[in-house]
Amino acid sequence: MNERAVIAGGAGFIGSHLCEYFLERSYDVVCVDNLITGAVDNIAHLSGRKEFVFMEHDITGPLRVPGRVNYVLNFASPASPVDYLEHPLETLKVGSFGTYQSLELAKEKGARYFLASTSEVYGDPLVSPQPETYWGNVNSVGPRSVYDEAKRFAEAMTMGYHRFHKVDVRIVRIFNTYGPRMRLNDGRVVPNFILQALHDQPLTVYGDGSQTRSFCYVSDLVEGIYRLLMSDHRGPVNLGNPEERKIIDFARYVIGLSGSRSTIAYSPLPQDDPKQRKPDITLAKGLLGWEPKVSLDQGLKETIAYFAKKK
Ligand code: UDP
Repeated sequence: MNERAVIAGGAGFIGSHLCEYFLERSYDVVCVDNLITGAVDNIAHLSGRKEFVFMEHDITGPLRVPGRVNYVLNFASPASPVDYLEHPLETLKVGSFGTYQSLELAKEKGARYFLASTSEVYGDPLVSPQPETYWGNVNSVGPRSVYDEAKRFAEAMTMGYHRFHKVDVRIVRIFNTYGPRMRLNDGRVVPNFILQALHDQPLTVYGDGSQTRSFCYVSDLVEGIYRLLMSDHRGPVNLGNPEERKIIDFARYVIGLSGSRSTIAYSPLPQDDPKQRKPDITLAKGLLGWEPKVSLDQGLKETIAYFAKKK
């Protein structure tokens, strides 16, 4: 009999790639999503398979899944700054109540629990690259706190269930990830720049563009997630691509790669926008034998092709 995984947020960008990955490896998958930022389009190609079930449900309420469950993966949350500013309370609730309800399901079923956390727990980091041992620099009352603090709370809750209820847990801290099925209008830098480039419109660089990010292709991330889930390591593990770029350089790179006539237009930097972000992946390398394989060139070409079809 196949093992069975519940994937909350399974109709989202990363969640839908995970559903696919698990089905390819002969797991039964229960995809749970309330479709606030997820979309049935992302999982349409999976529906109809008997190993795949979709439940439209908000995990801030009790999560009831009949039958056996071996893994509960919590990937449910708005994840782009624009989305979580538009849904601040939903973001706080899914990080807190949603994590609680999904942990309760794992406890009830004796399932292994996997939390999708984020590099945002490091806030505007004063240390670079960021290792898992860095405690972060977060403004608890700033506009991004609805996401940062919800995820920090989710990590605390997950470790609480592990220590108190002996739930077997894993925590990943995901750094900027991109690829097909990102929402076109989610406001993040990758969809914004690619769409602007494809329409020959100016690329909107916030601030002077000297802030940095490190971009990981989704297939690399999903491979790392699976290896972490199957590992014995309980504490948080960074997954991301350590190749760091300034946003201004990234803008020029996207223009070049898409053969666009776009120029650059500068707009104000949003409040508390982290100045630098680069994962230290020493732990993941040693523990999981994992490191990203897909180059920015290759990954962006795939992503541009996806957006070109959707625009
Ligand atoms: N950014 C930008 N132009 C855009 C969207 C984002 O210059 O149209 C910048 C943003 O200010 C940040 C970086 O790109 O410094 C990454 O932003 P994103 O929203 O993708 O995610 P974040 O890493 O901030 O969570």
